[in-house]
Amino acid sequence: MSNSPAHKRILLKLSGEALMGDDAFGINRATIVRMVEEIAEVTRLGVEVAVVIGGGNIFRGVAGGSVGMDRATADYMGMLATVMNALALADAMDKQGLTARVMSAIGIEQVVEPYVRPKALQYLEEGKVVVFAAGTGNPFFTTDTAAALRGAEIGAELVLKATKVDGVYTADPMKDSTATRYTQLTFDEAMSRNLGIMDATAFALCRDQKLPIRVFSIVKSGALKRVVMGEDEGTLVYA
Ligand code: UDP
Repeated sequence: MSNSPAHKRILLKLSGEALMGDDAFGINRATIVRMVEEIAEVTRLGVEVAVVIGGGNIFRGVAGGSVGMDRATADYMGMLATVMNALALADAMDKQGLTARVMSAIGIEQVVEPYVRPKALQYLEEGKVVVFAAGTGNPFFTTDTAAALRGAEIGAELVLKATKVDGVYTADPMKDSTATRYTQLTFDEAMSRNLGIMDATAFALCRDQKLPIRVFSIVKSGALKRVVMGEDEGTLVYA
């Protein structure tokens, strides 16, 4: 196998839950530090990394909606939650010697700069890690869709969906010991088997743009590096 990375530019989708570690809520600093170490390792290989961060560890619009809040208002709260996560992630990156830039899809310029595509591309070319915050900037969407959208916009070769499980399985591996991992499958196969890898909007966007998704475990040490080196890690979904 070659010693150079298989990908030049990637879009990493981290859910808010990934930042919680074993906590029930919020941001676990040790977890973030460990995740940033994994990201730093792949940037040292020369890979350009953009991150879309979720907010589910703090607030989800659907939760607000379920207790009677206006859904759009609740979704804006969810988007603001992703900004908090983005700030924590970028802070940990800076502390570990990575240069990070947070770009928000909603205007809060005293806190973070707005998303401007050419600027994001420039940062990536300069080797900075770009953290996309506030999802798509629109209620009724998710950060999975933001990952597909930004991934397509910046010309990422791959969307990496980080989960707690190391790929897509035939059944829930926590409940079914006979479950096996798919090493790869097409978008159509994933849809016909109802595997629910990303929400439908995100999935459709990746499929239309022929932007492959790799589902992998962010908990597994070194997995991100193995993915960028093109090794068989997690599950590849392709057109
Ligand atoms: N959100 C939104 N529009 C977007 C992205 C996110 O309204 O484009 C809101 C939505 O309320 C969502 C919350 O932000 O529940 C947090 O995002 P998400 O649930 O995708 O985070 P994750 O599950 O990845 O932690």
